Amino acid sequence: MPNQYDVIVIGAGNGGLATAAFTAKNGLKTLLVEKHNIPGGSATSFVRGRFEFETSLHELCTLGTKENPGGIMKFFDMLGVDLEIATSMDHTFRLIVPSEGIDADMPCGPREFIGKLEQLVPGSAPSMMQVAKYGGMAAEAYSFMDSPEFSIEAMNERYPDFFRLAGHSVTEVLDELGMPKAAQNIITTYWGYLGAPPSELDFLIYARMLMGYIVYGAGMTRMRSHELSMALEKVIRDCGGQIWYNSEAEEILVKDGKACGVVIGGKEYLAKHVVSNSHPNMVYGSMIDPEQVPEGAFKLSNSRDIGALFTTVYLGMNRTPQELGIDSYSYFIAPSSDPEVQYRGACNTRDFPNYVIMNCLNNVIPDCTPEGTCQLFFTTLYFGHGWDDVTPEEYAKIKNETAEKIIDCAEKSLGLNLRPYIEEIVVATPVTFARYLNSPAGTPYGYQAHPWDSFIQRNLTKKDESFIGNLYFAGAGTRRGDGYSSAYLSGLDAGQEVVRAERQKGGIER
Ligand SMILES: Cc1cc2nc3c(=O)[nH]c(=O)nc-3n(C[C@H](O)[C@H](O)[C@H](O)COP(=O)(O)OP(=O)(O)OC[C@H]3O[C@@H](n4cnc5c(N)ncnc54)[C@H](O)[C@@H]3O)c2cc1C
Repeated sequence: MPNQYDVIVIGAGNGGLATAAFTAKNGLKTLLVEKHNIPGGSATSFVRGRFEFETSLHELCTLGTKENPGGIMKFFDMLGVDLEIATSMDHTFRLIVPSEGIDADMPCGPREFIGKLEQLVPGSAPSMMQVAKYGGMAAEAYSFMDSPEFSIEAMNERYPDFFRLAGHSVTEVLDELGMPKAAQNIITTYWGYLGAPPSELDFLIYARMLMGYIVYGAGMTRMRSHELSMALEKVIRDCGGQIWYNSEAEEILVKDGKACGVVIGGKEYLAKHVVSNSHPNMVYGSMIDPEQVPEGAFKLSNSRDIGALFTTVYLGMNRTPQELGIDSYSYFIAPSSDPEVQYRGACNTRDFPNYVIMNCLNNVIPDCTPEGTCQLFFTTLYFGHGWDDVTPEEYAKIKNETAEKIIDCAEKSLGLNLRPYIEEIVVATPVTFARYLNSPAGTPYGYQAHPWDSFIQRNLTKKDESFIGNLYFAGAGTRRGDGYSSAYLSGLDAGQEVVRAERQKGGIER
C-alpha cells in the first residue's frame, strides 16, 4: 500500500534524523516528515549577507577523535557517516566574572584541567581528581544501563559508587568531597548546558558531561551543524527512506490504545510505529484526540518543568578576531561566579540576566567567514514564564533592547569595541524558537532536570512512560534530556526499539 509505512518519524531535528537513519538502515520502510524545508531543527545554519551563521551548536560533546572515539563519533561511524570535524579545541571554557576579578581559562585534558584549577584555587586538586574518577565511572555505568546484561544487582556489583551517588545533586557531592566553593563555581560553569543549577542537577550526569569535554575535547563540524543534519539526511535517502519537507504532521492517529499513523495535509498515512521528535507536551496536548490520551500522560507532562529558553544574538563582524581582541572560542560571562545566583537571575524574567555565553567560531574554524571578518554568537538563558506575556506591540522593542544589553555586557566585561564593526545582526528570542521548533515556550531543551526527575530516574521508570502503544519519542524531551549528543542517542534509542519490535514480529529478515 503506498500510504503504509513501517515507521513514520515526525520532525527532522537531531532525534528524528537519528531514528529515521537507523530504521532506514535496518531495512524498515521509513518516512520522515518535517514542517520546514530543511532538516536539523536547532541543528542548522542560516545566511545573512556574506555570513553563514551557526544557529545553535557551541560544542559537540563526547566526540573524541578517530583514534579515541567518544560515543557520538561511534554513533556516526555506525551509520557510516563521514564528517569533517574540527576538534582543535584545546580549551574547555573561559569564565569571566568582572565583579570578582575572575578570568579562568580552563584547558582540555584531565591533568591540565586539574592543574589549572589547583593553580586558581589551591587545595582543589584532590576533590577534582575524585570528580574525574566519578565522571569516568558514570560514563561506563550509563552505557551498561543500556546493555542486555543490565540488572540493578549487576550494576551495583560493577559500579558500587553509582547508586550511592545517584540522585544526589552536584552541590551535595562537591560539598561532601570538600571542594572549595571557588573551585565549585569554576567547574560548574557548564551548568547552563544541562539547563539546571548545580543544586538541582544530578551529579553523575554533570560529572560525565564535564569529563566528556575535558577528556575527549569538543568538536565542531566545518560547515556548521547543518553539515551534521545533511549527513544524516543522506544516510536516510541512501538507505531508501523517504523525507518529506514542508509537511507538518497535524495529528497522530490512535486506535485501540496504539498509534497507527499520522495526518498530513488532511490525509491519513498509516504506520506500524510512530516516532515523535515533536515535544511530548505538543503531542499529548494537541496532536492526539484527547479521548485517546491516558490521564497519566497529561499528569506527567504537566508535572515537569519546561526546559531552558534562549535569546541569541548573531553578529557578522567586518574585522578579524585578532583585530577585535578576541582570542578564545568560548567565554562564559557572569554577574557572579555563583551558578545559583546566575540561575535565579534568569528565572521568570524577560530582562537580560547578565549571564551570557559568547562564541567566536573563527577561533576553531578560521575560514568559516570571508577573509577579514568573523562571526560571533551570544546566548543567554531563561527559565520559567518571563516571556509568556510579551505582546506583539512590545516584542520588537524588548528583543532589540535585550540584544543591546548583551552586546554592552560583552564589550564592558571583555574590554572590546564591537559596535562599529557589526556588518550583520540577527536576534532570536524564545518566541523565534517556539515558532521554528514547535516546542512549548520555544524550549530546545525538553524538560528541566531535577533530582527527582533526571536521566537515572527517567531511565528506571521508562516503561511506565509508554502511555500509547507503538508511539515513541526522540529528542530533547526524552529521558536523555537536552543537547546534540543526547538528542542523537535518544533517536537511536527509539530506532532500536522499533527495529527490535519488528524483529520480534519477524518483520525484518536480518
Ligand atoms: C541557541 C542554542 C544553543 C545550543 N547550544 C548547544 C550546544 O552547544 N551543544 C549541544 O549539545 N546542544 C546545544 N543546544 C541544544 C540542542 O540544539 C537541542 O537540545 C537539540 O538539537 C534538540 O534536538 P531535538 O531532537 O529535540 O529536535 P529539535 O531541534 O527540537 O527539532 C524538532 C524538529 O521537529 C520539527 N517538528 C516539530 N513538530 C512537527 C510536526 N508536527 N510536524 C513536522 N515537523 C515537526 C521541527 O520543525 C524541528 O525541525 C542549543 C540550542 C540552542 C537553540
